Amino acid sequence: MTFQKLAEYFAQLELTSSRNAMVEILSRLFGEAEASEIDKVVYLTQGRVAPLYEPVEFGMAEKMILRALELAFGVGVGKATEIFKKNGDLGEAARDLSNKINKNKKNNKKTVTEVFMELLRIAQSGGEGSVEKKIGILSGLLQESDPLSAKYIARIPVDKMRLGFSDMTVLEGLSWMMDKTKGNKPAMEAVYNIRPDLGYIAKQVRAVIKAGKKQALASIEEIKPVTGTPLLPMRAERAASPDDILENTGGRCAIEPKVDGLRTQLHIKRAQRWGLKAGSCEVRLYSRGLENVTGMYPDLVAAAEKEIACEDVILDGEAIGYNPQSGKFLPFQETVQRKRKYDIESFSKNVPLKLIVFDCLYLNGRSLINEPYTVRRKEVEKLLRKENTIQPAEMHIVNDAAEIEKLFHAALAKNLEGIMAKKLDGVYQAGARGWNWIKYKKSYESKLADTIDAVVMGYDYGQGKRSKFGVGAFLVGVYDKKEDSFKTISKIGTGLTDEEWQELAARGKGLAVSEKPKNYNVNKTMGCDVWLRPKLVGEFKADELTKSPMHTAGLALRFPRLVRWREKNPEDTTSTKEMEAIFKLQAK
Ligand code: ATP
Repeated sequence: MTFQKLAEYFAQLELTSSRNAMVEILSRLFGEAEASEIDKVVYLTQGRVAPLYEPVEFGMAEKMILRALELAFGVGVGKATEIFKKNGDLGEAARDLSNKINKNKKNNKKTVTEVFMELLRIAQSGGEGSVEKKIGILSGLLQESDPLSAKYIARIPVDKMRLGFSDMTVLEGLSWMMDKTKGNKPAMEAVYNIRPDLGYIAKQVRAVIKAGKKQALASIEEIKPVTGTPLLPMRAERAASPDDILENTGGRCAIEPKVDGLRTQLHIKRAQRWGLKAGSCEVRLYSRGLENVTGMYPDLVAAAEKEIACEDVILDGEAIGYNPQSGKFLPFQETVQRKRKYDIESFSKNVPLKLIVFDCLYLNGRSLINEPYTVRRKEVEKLLRKENTIQPAEMHIVNDAAEIEKLFHAALAKNLEGIMAKKLDGVYQAGARGWNWIKYKKSYESKLADTIDAVVMGYDYGQGKRSKFGVGAFLVGVYDKKEDSFKTISKIGTGLTDEEWQELAARGKGLAVSEKPKNYNVNKTMGCDVWLRPKLVGEFKADELTKSPMHTAGLALRFPRLVRWREKNPEDTTSTKEMEAIFKLQAK
């Protein structure tokens, strides 16, 4: 497929706001792409040159793109900036300039793969002189492009593709390609949850689609977890009491402490398989949002190399700081400091971490996710030792409410958040929130049973006291997976400290977009002065949830306040379905 053809599809996608139309356009695009290039097509629709969990970044600022444009089209310094300032869109500026020079490049034969490889080269050039190198590659690419292709090529390195859909819509596009229905999406989603590489999934389907839908579905059913690709973490339901826990677990369950650190998935691959030096291994760590965070945890990497004697393994757990003198776990705020990007070495000495492992998902070529909890737990115990840095979570099997209450209070006394109950025969439901895991937290004593994670969708300029921050109130919403849209739950104008307002203004700055994103479902009365793309996630506490006709989620937060900013994907905010469940729980 030529990149020009792909750019025509991008233009169609950009023009429509109907989700069904997008699904249909995507399915045509996927059907037209060859199996050998469809992975690249999928990554490019997301403005990327790798799956979302790969840390491949372009490292280009707007200014660098503008210089590449000036070089590509031989216009004087400042000319591109001038055009960009006029229309506010780098892509349009690129198209304008290209139109003047490359208007006649009507049938541009450059393929998707060729453009993809050049973009990848930009992302991979680092070190001394890399700024000039990146600009050089991009200007070469722009020079050889037709105007429409130039528009999208200029947007990709600065993460400005914004076609208005996320992974779920891509899966629907693939489903539609199979039989013109969205009916195959659940099957696709099930594999996406254990291997969230859309390019890979698309390739599997595309390779056999000519043999029919049955064949395509069979090919994705074979997809298993692999080391080096994070699984979507499993999540827990909420219980209102120990009796509630027993009722939902068949009267007997495992209880583990709920530690409040950073959800971390540990992947180890032994030398034999990756052709590394014999006896060595590669360790990777992933966050809850599937980000590769290996660089942040040199101490856990070293511990994994030393303490775990197996070949290939994927473990799920929580990394938490502890006081080396007392051995006590530290509050979340101290653990989270590890997230800063500098001085990691000295930080790992001052605030060392432990990885508390509560699950084993894959071991030496065998997926364990469909095994019962007890089997997976046994593997955790075989692999790890209590006294090590990477250690198994404490665990008790119970069948009595009083016992659960006791363990809950013991956890609180240790400054922990509460407990997690696990169904003994429960499988690991990647990416899902189910009753196989149940959380029971301290905060459940208040009327609103839990905090809500919501994405900041936009804000209004401040008046009075807060005008100095530039933000007076902000709109937050939660994700509706079925509709691939964000629905509002509150416009918040109080409950933040001055520092938090400042931080919101600073974080919001880089996220502003000129129009309301297409997948924002907002009532007219809730419009914002500035719209933000979905990125910034906060955890909010409120007195209760109330029914609301003004908010598109149907429920709203009463007296909301910010607890903390969260490292979560916007699609991982409290779902609309969970909001309903929390609403019911607060009435209990
Ligand atoms: P969720 O993860 O349920 O979407 P959340 O991010 O707000 O919600 P919590 O409500 O605090 O998190 O509870 C679930 C989280 O608890 C897990 O994602 C995990 O990070 C953490 N956790 C701590 N201890 C355990 C444990 N023993 N078993 C499973 N998860 C645990």
